[in-house]
Amino acid sequence: ELSLSDRSNAVAPSVTLAVDAKAKAMKAAGIDVIRYGAGEPNFPTPERIAKVASQAALDPKNHKYTPTAGLPELREAIAKKTLRDSGYEITPQQVIVTNGGKQAVYESFQLLINPGDEVIIPTPYWVTYPEAVKLAGGTPVFVVADSDHGFIPTVEQIEAARTEHTKAIIINSPNNPTGSVWPAETLRQIGEWALEHGVWVISDEIYEHLVYDGAKTAHIGTLVPQLRDQLLVLNGVAKTYAMTGWRLGWLIASERVIKAASKMQGHITGNVDDVAQRAAIEALNGPLDAAATMREAFDKRRHAIVDALNAIPGVACRLPEGAFYAFADVHELLGKPLGPKGTVSQTSVELAQNLLDEARVAAVPGEGFGMPGFMRFSYALADEDLAEGMRRFKAWVEA
Ligand code: PLP
Repeated sequence: ELSLSDRSNAVAPSVTLAVDAKAKAMKAAGIDVIRYGAGEPNFPTPERIAKVASQAALDPKNHKYTPTAGLPELREAIAKKTLRDSGYEITPQQVIVTNGGKQAVYESFQLLINPGDEVIIPTPYWVTYPEAVKLAGGTPVFVVADSDHGFIPTVEQIEAARTEHTKAIIINSPNNPTGSVWPAETLRQIGEWALEHGVWVISDEIYEHLVYDGAKTAHIGTLVPQLRDQLLVLNGVAKTYAMTGWRLGWLIASERVIKAASKMQGHITGNVDDVAQRAAIEALNGPLDAAATMREAFDKRRHAIVDALNAIPGVACRLPEGAFYAFADVHELLGKPLGPKGTVSQTSVELAQNLLDEARVAAVPGEGFGMPGFMRFSYALADEDLAEGMRRFKAWVEA
């Protein structure tokens, strides 16, 4: 057998996608599974956005390559939106449009990291970060913050992880998988720490509009304006406008960084789909009403799922302030006979498998986020499904 690259062999498969794939396969086989695995809103893209796209698709002038960094009107709309929502002032030349926030994550590390460079990743983390760092030849350095600290690391912990090889830190608030919203004070301290030590900061703000109870998302670039030359901000339309499938995100940085990004992207994907870009212009220039509707629905489900999880013996879950995930502590369920068959799970991966096989409930084990002993439940699913899955989980544990 001919060999594949070390690089491709080193990538860990996505646990999130693995759970979802198995749940989908069970569903296809006629087994009714409640799926808390997927990271996407169960809402359609607002019609006004889809309509603009369908019109645009019929116009031949939209069937061609666009500039690699994106349509000028879209880069303009992103700059305006960033000022409106984050108070962060940028020019359109500081924006590159990418195939989802995911490509912006990948390109960030490709832009900054040399082999041997270290990237600090607050843990629990989004599954893609360590793999994207490794694909760039870098070394992820994990700084773990537990549930008692709201899953938010202190700047002292971050400083303790710094070495002469530290090149960057990636932060994500509101957070996937924990739903934590990081206080302005923490962001300001991290920004000042990065300035002092010459560390790049990558800020993933994809869940910015999904916050509850009046929680405020602060912006590190607004809090520490001197950081701008070493700050990369990534975002996209996926979560705010229920547009996960459209694959449209962006990266904001200094013009120097964006020029380098365009050069690279020109050899990777070129521009993002023209029609999706026009849909994004409509999304960003229009109202945030869809996000408000989703926020209201998610807020109710947030309380429903956290109450239901905490009512299950051996499960503990803090109330998240943002995103659409509940990150539950399941340590007490490990090593014990559970379910009608008395099945014992030694790890949260095994627990997730057994819960899926025996109770037909799919959730993602904490191992995927660097936090064994936890499970992530997405509550972006229908109210009835949410309630039914929790009934199944509780009945299984209490059997
Ligand atoms: N960042 C975080 C934390 C996410 O959870 C996701 C999607 O799940 C993304 C970025 C990327 O989203 P997309 O590539 O769909 O724009």
